[in-house]
Amino acid sequence: MKKYAVLGMDVEEWYHLDYFLDEKTDKSQSTLDGIEIYLTLLKKYGIKTTFFVVGELVEKLESVLKRILNEGHEIALHSFHHKRPLSMTLEEFRIDTEKTIKIIKEKLQYEVKGFRAPCFSLDKERLNILQQLPLKYDASKINFNNHQLYGNLDVSDFQNLAPDIYFKDSFYEFETSTVSMLGKNIPISGGGYLRILPWKVTEYLLQTYLKKQKNYFFYIHPFEFSRNYNIKLPSDTEMITKFRFHHGRKTVENKMHRLIKILKENNYEFVKFEDLLKIEK
Ligand SMILES: [Zn+2]
Repeated sequence: MKKYAVLGMDVEEWYHLDYFLDEKTDKSQSTLDGIEIYLTLLKKYGIKTTFFVVGELVEKLESVLKRILNEGHEIALHSFHHKRPLSMTLEEFRIDTEKTIKIIKEKLQYEVKGFRAPCFSLDKERLNILQQLPLKYDASKINFNNHQLYGNLDVSDFQNLAPDIYFKDSFYEFETSTVSMLGKNIPISGGGYLRILPWKVTEYLLQTYLKKQKNYFFYIHPFEFSRNYNIKLPSDTEMITKFRFHHGRKTVENKMHRLIKILKENNYEFVKFEDLLKIEK
């Protein structure tokens, strides 16, 4: 069986992170330069991937999003304002998603196929809404109960095409990778974990995971690659949040090269989510 890796990016600003939402953030500071740094890294390896974009940034990012498409990557949805779907009513969620589809279509003449919820915050009812829209897949499932903001998406009525790919009525669900250790599921697939865990730990967890013959669905954010290291966080930001935000940003690029090397050694094929819609049928 072939194994696929999607090294996706959630295109959002540093202030979209949920732990800043209720605080006063200086939105004139930007970390979106991280997108170009990631594009250059991907280009070095000839990797094409999926960029999940926050709708309110589409206008500002029009030229870089066009570059993303010209370089053969995919654009998908990451909500309009990066509000968690579970904090919206069903109707609000539908409107928010339709609005994001529309702005991408208008500005980029591009029809998106996929969605990923901010904070993996999705349930069955909201998934049903995505299925009614002209979308082909969702990538909001993660098997991780230790994070209070994450949802726990039930896809038991879907058919398993792979351990982490589900299918029902022409619609696909992709599960972000976690590794089971001592009865707990640890996400090994997010930029935050890549930055914060010592490389030796990441490498060990990865090697454990890769033995399971599963696909590898990863996500990272522009702020993690940004060279703007001096972002001023709101003055009342807690120590733990400062740590989670800043730690490992200067070494993440180097770790990313090592991560790609390991995936290559394990014969992973690098794809965009939309490629999996063709392969797995
Ligand atoms: Zn996000």
